[in-house]
Amino acid sequence: MTKYIYKFDEGQKSMKDLLGGKGANLAEMKSLGLPVPDGFTITTEACIEYLKNDAELPDTLLEQLNIELDALSQRIQKSFSADESLLLVSVRSGAKISMPGMMDTILNLGLNDENVKKLATKTNDSRFAYDCYRRLLQMFGQVVYGIPMAAFDTYFNQYKTQHGYQSDADIPAEGLQDICNHFKEVYVEETYKPFPQEPINQLTEAIEAVFKSWDNDRARVYRQLNEIPHDIGTAVNIQEMVFGNSGERSGTGVAFTRNPVTGQANLFGEYLLNAQGEDVVAGIRTPKDIETLRAQMPHVHQQFVDVSKRLETHYKDMQDIEFTIENEQLYILQTRSGKRTANAAIHIAVDLVEEEIITKEEAVLNVEVKSIDQLLHPNFDEQSLKNATTISKIGLPASPGAASGKIVFSAEIAKEQAENGNKVILMRPETSPEDIEGMIASEAIVTTHGGMTSHAAVVARGMGKCCVTGCSDVEINVVDKVIHYPGGTLQEGDVISVDGAKGDIYYGEVATMKAERSEAFEQFMSWSEDVARLQVRMNAETPQDIQTGYQFNAKGIGLVRTEHMFFGPERLIEMRRFILSDTQDKRIAALNKIQQYQMTDFEAILKLSGERPTIIRLLDPPLHEFLPSSVEEKNNVAEQLNVSVRELEQYIENLNEVNPMLGHRGCRLAITYPELYVMQAEAIVSSALRLKAQGIECQPEIMIPLVSTVAEFTILKDQIVEKIEQLQQEAGDRIQYLIGTMIETPRACLIADELAEVCDFFSFGTNDLTQLTFGFSRDDAGKFIGSYLEQGILERDPFQTLDQNGVGQLVKKAAQQAKAVNPNIKIGVCGELGGDDKSIHYFNQIDIDYVSCSPFRVPGALLSTAQSEVKGGRSRV
Ligand code: ADP
Ligand code: MG
Ligand code: MG
Repeated sequence: MTKYIYKFDEGQKSMKDLLGGKGANLAEMKSLGLPVPDGFTITTEACIEYLKNDAELPDTLLEQLNIELDALSQRIQKSFSADESLLLVSVRSGAKISMPGMMDTILNLGLNDENVKKLATKTNDSRFAYDCYRRLLQMFGQVVYGIPMAAFDTYFNQYKTQHGYQSDADIPAEGLQDICNHFKEVYVEETYKPFPQEPINQLTEAIEAVFKSWDNDRARVYRQLNEIPHDIGTAVNIQEMVFGNSGERSGTGVAFTRNPVTGQANLFGEYLLNAQGEDVVAGIRTPKDIETLRAQMPHVHQQFVDVSKRLETHYKDMQDIEFTIENEQLYILQTRSGKRTANAAIHIAVDLVEEEIITKEEAVLNVEVKSIDQLLHPNFDEQSLKNATTISKIGLPASPGAASGKIVFSAEIAKEQAENGNKVILMRPETSPEDIEGMIASEAIVTTHGGMTSHAAVVARGMGKCCVTGCSDVEINVVDKVIHYPGGTLQEGDVISVDGAKGDIYYGEVATMKAERSEAFEQFMSWSEDVARLQVRMNAETPQDIQTGYQFNAKGIGLVRTEHMFFGPERLIEMRRFILSDTQDKRIAALNKIQQYQMTDFEAILKLSGERPTIIRLLDPPLHEFLPSSVEEKNNVAEQLNVSVRELEQYIENLNEVNPMLGHRGCRLAITYPELYVMQAEAIVSSALRLKAQGIECQPEIMIPLVSTVAEFTILKDQIVEKIEQLQQEAGDRIQYLIGTMIETPRACLIADELAEVCDFFSFGTNDLTQLTFGFSRDDAGKFIGSYLEQGILERDPFQTLDQNGVGQLVKKAAQQAKAVNPNIKIGVCGELGGDDKSIHYFNQIDIDYVSCSPFRVPGALLSTAQSEVKGGRSRV
């Protein structure tokens, strides 16, 4: 018989696959002796079985459930049917990977018309009993029967207004009783069935609902966004209830062991007295800072401080802890690694190493690669801020970033507008899991309610998205789509700017400036470098980009694309003259001019690189990319080149190709126009010679693109070397240089051993290699890749993440063969995949020496290489 249920006493933190994160950690905390209400976990296996069997519970599950319920009853001396000690439980979902707000929880399960009265009598508090009951009715209705939240909330809120109650806690027992009665009518209206009175039926229905919620749209979107597999299922935790809503000596809260925004090493949390469950997170009442608990309940506060230290040291990471206080008794209900901003992640990792809680290697694993991006986020320009009109400054800095966009009031509109290319800012009283896609589509999120742990805040931080919460001086009317703030009103479509690091909101668009990096960041990055094997270079050609990459500690340039240098107007015309010349003499004349420009460029680039290697790729794209297309442009060019428009059009016609990406491009251009590459090589080498004369040594690496035969390479290489020899002789000096090729056709991979004998280096061009291996045109794949992903034909877009089974195998074998014949050959990867985390992990396991990516991806790539090495690196293969 498969064991589908584990008591908390039987689990531990390493069992996340089976018990989910929440269940495994509840068990772990229990074994540490922490005050965790007793219970048990139904495994993820049971969920997977259930979904596979068309929503049928596995055979022996109910049997096991009854046994475990009895055992729990025995242990805690409470039961669903008892008159005196009534058992109420929470039913809590929990997958292996934490999915905040994505799945649903039911509290106070076990209550019904009969025992709510018993609870009232026993506790001598009917307000409390009916508060529990109305919550159960609400949550159960929503989670199990999908009754819209509004069906309950509207009535609840009306009731409060009608009777003049400020907060939920003001509603007296009779009021809550009325509300319960109304809620039960809602069941009949919405489902044509009464609320199930039998606790065991409530329980099985709830378990099934949690299993099913694994497949709801919100959960799917979240998993897609976070690359969580769809087939791992969720566990369900059944746990004895403790009551934060049993008066003013009780409460519920959430705390992080360190500040999740700045990383500061002090407890950071919020709580509400006389409240239950998600009240804090839902932003219904404004919670209090955990610090005030010290005065209200000193020993509970002290106990919590101790627990949080203990958990942090035990888990070796900042923890996000959920707790409840029942009559001054502390209970811990959940712990997990806390979501944090990138800045906080770096600070926390560095502090934990300094506090000797973790090692450098562990620190590297504690920061998510994705989050590095956030650190490079821009801030608002101080000067422009001074002149900006403030809308609100009292919001909370929930997630850093600086963003401007048009106001929208709903997630649907946010999504729609973003799809039309508009930058939008989602403004709402609060957000809920239904808003997730709209949040993704927005530049920033602003809420008027809620604190630093509200749904909006937590989710935005996870996404690295700018967010301000608790802007309580701004009033949003979602129905009329108008906002009133102290200084005026705003409508949908008005542009505002949001400063997520400060919690400020401004009217109009405020200019931004680049991010500054902290000492902790430098420290962390240098540890990453210490740990990594693979090196990281950058793809760049402008001085500004190159400087950026070097500031991020790139180890050299992996790709300078020379064609980007031909697009300035005065250069373009010479390029056109070259393309349109009918004799070699004319072509050479045009090239001489271009060469002058190229020398200036190369000198600047090589000077910035100095002794760091710099790969310069010779001209790659099809020539027609340089030709005019509009009538006006054609007229201009014809005039400048002194030909008739008709002649020009004839030339263009001749150059036209059916399949330009497979046509006359890359080294094929130089095979037909040899003077082209010779000119470029001359520009590179004479720049290097000139720099050397000034005392600057540099290391150009000349790269011939799109090679698929050895002869293509050797013919071009010989021409280039001849020129270089001549230049060196003339200068009476020599420089260090390499000549290699880009490996980007499948054939080149297949003859890698032959190519390696004549090449100094290889650089895998994964964009073209993917295109040619699949036969997917990069420019047209957008039309079908979506369907491929949806239907599971491909797991990922191969242009964004390496296709390991196909393209990856080509790279692996080619690199291996190349190293076998030429152990000194340097092998790198350039192209988008060079900056992708998963792809980098693969490259780290094979014979690749470095990856190269755009400058802003360098820090993330560096962290990926370090993490890959800590996780096992090459030894794994
Ligand atoms: P989520 O995964 O959304 O955080 P949880 O299962 O943690 O959902 O439940 C949400 C909240 O419900 C908890 O933070 C806690 O306040 C409350 N809760 C859950 N189980 C219990 C329990 N046994 N007793 C009291 N409150 C509970
Ligand atoms: Mg929740
Ligand atoms: Mg929770």
